[in-house]
Amino acid sequence: MFDLIIEGGTVIDGTGAPRVRADLGILAGRIARIGDLADVPAHARFDARARIVAPGFIDVHTHDDRLLLDAPVGAHPKLSQGVTTVVTGNCGISLAPLRRATPPPAPLDLLGDDVWRYDRFGDYLDALEQSGPAVNAACLVGHSTLRVRRMARLDRAATPDEAQAMAADLAEAMAAGALGLSTGLYYPTATAATAEEVIAVGAPLTAAGGLVTMHIRDEGDAIDTALREALHIGRTLGIDTVLSHHKLIGRNNHGRSAETLALIEHASQGQGVCFDCYPYNASSTILLASRVRQSDDVRVTWSKADPSAAGQSLFALAKARGVAPEALADMLQPAGAVYFAMSEDDVSRILAHPMAMVGSDGLAHDVSPHPRLWGTFPRVLGHYARDRRLFSLEMAVHKMTGLSARRFGLAGRGVLAVGHHADVVVFDAQRVADRATYALPTEVSTGIDAVYVNGRLACRDGATQDVHAGRVLRRGGTA
Ligand SMILES: [Zn+2]
Repeated sequence: MFDLIIEGGTVIDGTGAPRVRADLGILAGRIARIGDLADVPAHARFDARARIVAPGFIDVHTHDDRLLLDAPVGAHPKLSQGVTTVVTGNCGISLAPLRRATPPPAPLDLLGDDVWRYDRFGDYLDALEQSGPAVNAACLVGHSTLRVRRMARLDRAATPDEAQAMAADLAEAMAAGALGLSTGLYYPTATAATAEEVIAVGAPLTAAGGLVTMHIRDEGDAIDTALREALHIGRTLGIDTVLSHHKLIGRNNHGRSAETLALIEHASQGQGVCFDCYPYNASSTILLASRVRQSDDVRVTWSKADPSAAGQSLFALAKARGVAPEALADMLQPAGAVYFAMSEDDVSRILAHPMAMVGSDGLAHDVSPHPRLWGTFPRVLGHYARDRRLFSLEMAVHKMTGLSARRFGLAGRGVLAVGHHADVVVFDAQRVADRATYALPTEVSTGIDAVYVNGRLACRDGATQDVHAGRVLRRGGTA
């Protein structure tokens, strides 16, 4: 007797293999059988006729460290898209290990002001486990978080003693179940860090089998040097490297993805490397004057100095106020923004690359967030796979499930197979679509019928059901 049979659907298993008609039998949170289960008894049945049944999506690039701790109210930005697992702590920014009363410097403040209470990484994982997250979470340690914790000044490289203290923090976090280290050498908290510093801090990853994700130092004119630096760090440590949200910023660099992808492909012959990306031609992070100059348009996502600026065009606002956009950017601090500075050709070429995984990079605490927070996964399935035919639906699903689980070492997830955890999404391939826009960024996507997390119904037609079905996925934990 199964707990649940998802019947009559078309299964896309996450490996990239062609779809097949099959029922899915679920027992005790696991996939117990795949095949014709018409005559098999079950406590519940879900009619998936004319629907795709796929592994729950894995969002490999998130800043959900705090979102996961808050009890969800209303529609959930991840569950409503079919996401069942997130990787947190990217771009050098993690909530732990860092305890302090005052807000940390940007970009750490993307995670909020009032949640810096975990002195050890294991304390954060324990708190997450106790609160019961809505989705499964695998967690990275942020290099900038370690720098803020261990360094009195951030405008220089770490001393050997400081690097050793950060390495010890990382080793402790790895023992507690962290997935690896993330870096954000682009950000003010880490621009002064050298590759040697990252290698010294990351030393425990080698023996622990951890990985490193990198928001590289420059995604504009100097991207070539920045990519080589990131690859050098991963190669020296002998670990897998994930290049975060691969893209090219600034008009001068449009079209250069042909060159950067060739560089990454070449490197992949000698070391473990892959990358994630989001399906939009605008980026989003803290408001930085340097980034304003590279952009065709800039939309303010939040501002502490002037909350009314959220959702507005920085250029239009600057014109109305008679100031230069860069000057206004300074006046709005601390603040965040969406930047229109990428080419659609690069976005498509990068997303279509066989090594590309999907990661939203969504910022859950922004007042007027980039629509990627609510729309990333349906947008890949609807806009890019179905409407633009950039790749098959099987390949789209693979980029957000099987490939991601393999690259991040998430055992027993990302592929629909007997014995695996029952993270499952049922969606309508004809209707699946993102609805979040820059003007209306929190619209719930359509076409995601049902989302199961560890066998429990977590979301139905965009409406949140079970908000505690997720688990903390500790590295080295049992599959
Ligand atoms: Zn980033």
